[in-house]
Amino acid sequence: MDGNQTQVRVMRPGGWVEGPGGGLLLATSGEPPSWFVLEEHPTLFKQFAELPPAPDAIKQFATQYGNLFANLRSGAQLRSTLDDWQEQTFRMRCVLELWEAAVVNSDWLLNRALVELARVAEKGPLKPYQVVAAELVERMRGDLLTGGGVASKCWQAVFVVGDVVTEQLSEMAPFFERAAPSTGSDPVPPQPLKIGLRPKELHQAVWWQCARFLTDGTLVRQCPQCKEWFTVQPPITRTTRKFCSDRCKQAAYRHKQKAKESQS
Ligand SMILES: [Zn+2]
Repeated sequence: MDGNQTQVRVMRPGGWVEGPGGGLLLATSGEPPSWFVLEEHPTLFKQFAELPPAPDAIKQFATQYGNLFANLRSGAQLRSTLDDWQEQTFRMRCVLELWEAAVVNSDWLLNRALVELARVAEKGPLKPYQVVAAELVERMRGDLLTGGGVASKCWQAVFVVGDVVTEQLSEMAPFFERAAPSTGSDPVPPQPLKIGLRPKELHQAVWWQCARFLTDGTLVRQCPQCKEWFTVQPPITRTTRKFCSDRCKQAAYRHKQKAKESQS
């Protein structure tokens, strides 16, 4: 069943307005849904997690990929605040960092994540993401860190920081669709139905990608040549794959050769 791979339509933002207290709001114009984020950008959640909290970076991302919350449930008040973006990207970054620490069972990575959380928490609590950091530090210092190995502590922390995910994903719409008819058979036999979940908004789409990444063994790597993220799906693609494409592999090779020549 690959219902997970299904399309999600994301509305592009219509423009920026100044919100109460000077916070930026990203407003949608109610334009028709325009593109398919899961299919076209399977590693978007990585970019999302690493999005800097600066308004300009968020604006640019939103203009390209759509508004965080964009469906019609709130009528005329279609918007996502800067606070929303900062909190959501911060949570995902925490989840991925702690997940990495759990997978490699690294005390060092866990400590690094904790130090970073404490640093963010110290500055607050002015912003929602600073409140999240303070809560996490509090909980992790308390019951989470008293027993068990590094990996189990990290997993628990992932659940704490990801609590919000369940809530967001619960709004996704379940749907049925027919499996693609096999070609060349005549007459076409009845096709089985597939069930899947369809994210309606960008925040659901990126959390859905992130949840899949944490559960299905897909690896996501950054291409050292073009810096784009790409997926490695054993056994379809080799786990040793380093570059996103042959083109980048060749470019890196040529680059290396050139460097060698200029050295000698
Ligand atoms: Zn590349």
